[in-house]
Amino acid sequence: MNLATLIACATCRDALTADQHDDTIIYRHAVTESDHQPRPVNASLLKSVRNACHTCTGAPPVWNYHTSRLQIGTSIDGPIETYNEQWHVCLRCAQFIEADDSDGLTARCAGRMRWHPDSPDYAVLRLLHRGIVLSRNERTLLTTTPWPPARLTAEMLPKIRDRLTGLLRGPANLPTPINNTDQRQALAARLDLIPMYWINHEYTAQVQALTANQPTAWINDELAPSEAGLLVWPEPVGHSSQLAAVSWTPQADGWHFIGYRSVGAGAGVDQDLMQSVRHEIGWLVPIHAEYIARGTGIDGDHPLGPLATTWLFIHQRMTETVAAKPDKSTAKAYARAKRPAPDIRVVQIQPRSAEPARHAEPAAGRTRAKPTHRFWVSGHERNQAYGPGRSLRQKIEIQPFLKGDEDLPIKLSTTVRILGRRTDDDRTPGTSSE
Ligand SMILES: [Zn+2]
Ligand SMILES: [Zn+2]
Repeated sequence: MNLATLIACATCRDALTADQHDDTIIYRHAVTESDHQPRPVNASLLKSVRNACHTCTGAPPVWNYHTSRLQIGTSIDGPIETYNEQWHVCLRCAQFIEADDSDGLTARCAGRMRWHPDSPDYAVLRLLHRGIVLSRNERTLLTTTPWPPARLTAEMLPKIRDRLTGLLRGPANLPTPINNTDQRQALAARLDLIPMYWINHEYTAQVQALTANQPTAWINDELAPSEAGLLVWPEPVGHSSQLAAVSWTPQADGWHFIGYRSVGAGAGVDQDLMQSVRHEIGWLVPIHAEYIARGTGIDGDHPLGPLATTWLFIHQRMTETVAAKPDKSTAKAYARAKRPAPDIRVVQIQPRSAEPARHAEPAAGRTRAKPTHRFWVSGHERNQAYGPGRSLRQKIEIQPFLKGDEDLPIKLSTTVRILGRRTDDDRTPGTSSE
């Protein structure tokens, strides 16, 4: 489930607020009702969308404050304006709200609009901001904020993980599908102990180049490098280049996956606020949540496609994993808290001098003529005979793999499918035995 779909009004192209009541979602315009009904559509379908802070109308919003219904009448028998109960607010405005400083909020917002403190508009704004600050009851982290990406390093992993578990244990709401308190606590407890994988730059570049064409891979125990984990790429991957990390934890007959975008300190973010961003949010914001049953096939187009591709390379033993030590201050902090040392694993493409990758793949046939490029060989499911007299069958999944030496150019247009006629070069043992 995509958690980061921005919904906007097709008529006015303003981002909308969403209020979920059981199975129905009510969309509203920002601040007050408009002269037209909202027509909610996925914002990616619209040319330009206005997704600005509801109070200062400036920076993109980061927090959604839930307030009581606010109504303001400017004269005794004049009209009464009714306001939305949700306020999408930028980092700077949220600082004023958190500090209960409604006058500071008004001064900032009126200043941006050049409203004089003696003007009637200013007085209404001050009332409105007081209403927001006094009647707010909870806030939700918006997962649609277009953060600049962060550069994530292996040394940062313990901190990144600990801020994520802090967010899960903290008071801020997350999107409804991942907001259940018990599940948040359970996930945080699990993340405290998981191995953390950092994919190096060269490997990440290969994943990014090869994901789009990745044939179906089967999510199973054999493919997953560990039962649970957090995997981080140094820069985001995937077709929208947003996916910075994925966590997986076992659940019933499969895994619960959460994909995250990273929060960078780049352009458009006030640098003096970064410290509080790191404290309140951290480095990762969830953008995708999904339960995947054991044995489910996913290909490169899937939102978690880059994870499947990364796992396939590890599975194919194209990579080597090196344990990394945390820096001294992290190691000390963990020891002081009587926590086990963080399990950091750096994963990189094997050096060229190593055994060529295809020899490590048991499914790869002996090649007489060397391939001149690298290409995906699709996987498949087959029924394997076992038991007395080989009378029983069990389904096993043969994963796709990348064929050819690493220094060969990649031919992305070619995916060899194990169907019908095939050349000697493309054959994989196991397919012919059926
Ligand atoms: Zn509209
Ligand atoms: Zn603002």
